[in-house]
Amino acid sequence: MNSVLRFFRDPDLGTIEARSFKVFNERTLDRIDALAGISEEMRFEMQVVSSVLPFRVNQYVIEELIDWSNVPDDPIFQLTFPQRGMLEPEAFARMAALHESGAERGAIVALARQLREGLNPHPAGQLAMNRPRDFAGNIVDGLQHKYRETVLFFPSQGQTCHSYCTFCFRWAQFVGDKELRIASSETETMLGYLRAHRDVSDLLITGGDPLVMKTRNLAQYLEPLLAPAYDHIQTVRIGTKALSFWPYRFVTDNDADDLLRLLERMVDAGKNVAVMAHYNHWWEMDTPIARAAIRRLRETGVTIRSQGPLLAHINDRAEDWARLWREQVRVGIHPYYLFVERDTGARRYFEVPLARAWEIYRDAMQSVSGLSRTARGPSMSAGPGKVEVQGVTEIQGEKVFALRFLQGRNPDWVQRPFFARFDPEATWLDQLRPAFGEERFFFEDEYASMLPAA
Ligand SMILES: *Cc1c(COP(=O)(O)O)cnc(C)c1O
Ligand code: SF4
Repeated sequence: MNSVLRFFRDPDLGTIEARSFKVFNERTLDRIDALAGISEEMRFEMQVVSSVLPFRVNQYVIEELIDWSNVPDDPIFQLTFPQRGMLEPEAFARMAALHESGAERGAIVALARQLREGLNPHPAGQLAMNRPRDFAGNIVDGLQHKYRETVLFFPSQGQTCHSYCTFCFRWAQFVGDKELRIASSETETMLGYLRAHRDVSDLLITGGDPLVMKTRNLAQYLEPLLAPAYDHIQTVRIGTKALSFWPYRFVTDNDADDLLRLLERMVDAGKNVAVMAHYNHWWEMDTPIARAAIRRLRETGVTIRSQGPLLAHINDRAEDWARLWREQVRVGIHPYYLFVERDTGARRYFEVPLARAWEIYRDAMQSVSGLSRTARGPSMSAGPGKVEVQGVTEIQGEKVFALRFLQGRNPDWVQRPFFARFDPEATWLDQLRPAFGEERFFFEDEYASMLPAA
């Protein structure tokens, strides 16, 4: 399907040409012209890795966001293209051997499935714990409800993205394994759940990327929320990376204007509409089309908040975060969260020790103005909640991490400081032990009692 070719004229940015969406995946990897200049060995490695982890990249990312003279180090290349180190050496070797032997697709798919199981496809109890039940005790498909105020909705047409991030924590949803998907096409399921839960104030529409959906599909979920039965839903958040991966969605796509008008109607009717924009690098904000998209989106009256994980090979430098936050504040985006890379998928390649993550966060914070200091973190979205590393300090001779919950499975845990023994290597909450010789963290017994029986 071709989009109508047209132009967008911006008083400052000049004329921006429309682009039709063209995307590559693991089966069409060898048709990417830009890869011609790359060694055969690297292309083979990409083929091997992309048979296990999801791969999808569009022409805009290839042509406008990646600096090919800086490959493989370029951060956006690392963000979107598979790298050998993303698999364990043994897993890589097994899959490489299969490819070299000219195995059939069926054999590759079978090994891929097996290898994925070793990559913790559903971290933080996503399938076991966060799926709400209706009054009859049946699982409500397509929803997650972990924190009292906020319900996550996964519309089924939004279970893909304009490109895939190599570190994605939702990667299991993309590899075609139907039973792993958390998705729903049912508007009424979502609406019924919200009507029955008056203590929910926020609906977060997520994916994948819900903005891969046509505006008319999105409208089918959003417009009913304007009825009085949903007055308790104050905020509708839309989690998206389209501002980075496909800014044409807001500017020249056929239904770009319809999308902006839809958001405007929601705002005018009194909803707070928050676009939760996923950013990993200031580079993503640096093209004219990205600027135009941000500006048009802001004109609708929505707020844009940014969040993203700290990742080795992509953004593990304080000056990159400082620049990202400064640029965001300049164009009216509010920095919101800096996440710790989750314990899933290619985490071995991207993880940064918590101690180092905190240093990067602190150094970045120290070099920006107060308006850029709204990003909280480094934050781990773990089973018990979102846990922030507040810092490393020494208390009565013991070096410790100071931690706190930003969100908790029990709201009573939120904002209570607690301490863990310092560990320079630790990369996740489950590797931390309580400080001061204590046996358990204050929340551990209660959390254990919430876990489903094995
Ligand atoms: C982060 C998160 C939310 C939203 O939390 P806020 O602190 O309100 O931004 C909701 N549900 C889940 C599962 C989350 O991880
Ligand atoms: S945009 Fe989000 S859901 Fe999509 S691949 Fe990236 S991290 Fe995953």
